[in-house]
Amino acid sequence: MNAAMPPPMPEAWDVAAVRRDFPILEQQVHGHPLAYLDNAATTQKPQAVLDALDRYYRHDNANVHRGVHALAERATVAFEAARESARRFLNARTTREIVFVRGTTEAINLVASSFGGGFAEGDEVILSAMEHHANIVPWQLLRERTGIVLRVLPITAAGELDLDALPGLFSRRTRLLSMVHVSNALGTINPVRELVAAARERGVPVLLDGAQAVPHLRVDVQALDCDFYAFSGHKAFGPTGIGVLYGRERLLEAMPPYQGGGEMIRTVSFEKTTYAGLPHRYEAGTPDIAGAIGLGQAIEYLEALDWDAATAYEQWLLAYATECLMQVPGLRIIGQARDKVAVISFVMDGVHPHDMGTILDRCGLAVRAGHHCAMPVMTWYGVPATSRASMAFYNTPEEIDRLAAALHYAREMLA
Ligand code: PLP
Repeated sequence: MNAAMPPPMPEAWDVAAVRRDFPILEQQVHGHPLAYLDNAATTQKPQAVLDALDRYYRHDNANVHRGVHALAERATVAFEAARESARRFLNARTTREIVFVRGTTEAINLVASSFGGGFAEGDEVILSAMEHHANIVPWQLLRERTGIVLRVLPITAAGELDLDALPGLFSRRTRLLSMVHVSNALGTINPVRELVAAARERGVPVLLDGAQAVPHLRVDVQALDCDFYAFSGHKAFGPTGIGVLYGRERLLEAMPPYQGGGEMIRTVSFEKTTYAGLPHRYEAGTPDIAGAIGLGQAIEYLEALDWDAATAYEQWLLAYATECLMQVPGLRIIGQARDKVAVISFVMDGVHPHDMGTILDRCGLAVRAGHHCAMPVMTWYGVPATSRASMAFYNTPEEIDRLAAALHYAREMLA
C-alpha cells in the first residue's frame, strides 16, 4: 500500500521461527491478529521463560539460602545460576557485582539512597533532559533530604544529547553522572562511552540506565567502564518484578545497605548487626526467586539468538517503519537521532495520542500513548504526549504496513 522502498529485508533473520517462540503473539484482538508494538513498555516472554517459571513453581519452589532440604537447595542453585547468567550477560567481573532488584526503578533508588546517602549539601549530580522519571525522581528525593544540586544536560532538536554542553556541567562538586543509555521516549542511543570517558577524566562515577538498551544492544559493563548499570527483566523478555543492578565491587563494598531485614545480615543482636557480603547485603527479604530464574532463562534465550542478525533486522524494521510513517499526512516523528533503536514516537496534527491509541487498538495494534514517564522530553518538544510504536525482533513488516494503513485511516477519521 505504500511507495516506500527500503533496502531488502535481511534474510538471515527468520522472524516466523522466532515468533513461534512467543505464544502470546498468536492471538486476535478485536477481530484482528495482534500486532504488539509496545515493547518499550514491556516485552513478551518466550515459551522457554514460561516453562522455567512453571517448572520452578511445580517442582522446586522453596525459599533460598537458608533451607537444608532438597527443594531449598534446588531453588538456591537455580537462583544463583540466574545471577551467574546476568553476570555473563553484562560481562561483570564477578557475581558479587550483580544485585537482584525489582527493576530499573529500584536499582536507581538503591544507588540514590545508598551511594547518594554519602552526598552533602551542594554536591552535584548530572542528569539529562531525556531521562525517564525513574532517573529523575530518586535524585529529587535525595535533593530534599540532603540539598544536592541537579544539573541537566540539554538535548537537541533531533533528540540527541547536547554534548557540547557537557563539559560546562562538571564542577568540583560533581559526585555522579547518571544517564539513560537508550531513551524510551525517543529511541535515541546515547554515546555512553563518550559520557563515561568525560566523567572518568574528572574522576566522576557513572550510572547508566539500561532499561531500553538491554533488549536491543549487547552491553559489556567492563568495556563501558561504568560504575553502575541498571536494567529490568520484563523489558528484556523476562518476567516483571525482577531486574539487575550492576555495581562496581569497590563501590558496593563501601556503600551502606539499602533496606534492612532477613537475607542481608551476618549476625543480629539488639546492640549491633553485621551485614552479609556482596551482593546479599543489598537483597533484604525473600527475593523474587521465580523472577530471577525466569530472567536467567530469558538471558539464555537471548544468548542463543544470532544477535547480529537480530540487530540488523530491527534496524531494517526501524528504517522501514520510519519510511512508511513519514508518508502519513500530518504525522510528525518526535526524535530523529542518527543512532536509534526501533522506537518511533509520533504526533499527528489534530489527533490526540490517546484517541490515536484507541483507534489503533481497534485494529489490533498495540502502541503506547502518553508521556512515557519522560515529561521533560514532552515539555521540550512542546507536546503533551506522543504515540509510540516500539518494535522487537519478532515484529514484522506486515505489522508495520497495518500500522501505516491504520494511521492513514485515523487521519481521515479524526483530523
Ligand atoms: N528507565 C527507562 C529508560 C525506562 O524505559 C523505564 C521503563 O519504562 C524505566 C527506567 C523504569 O523501568 P521499570 O518500570 O521496569 O523499573
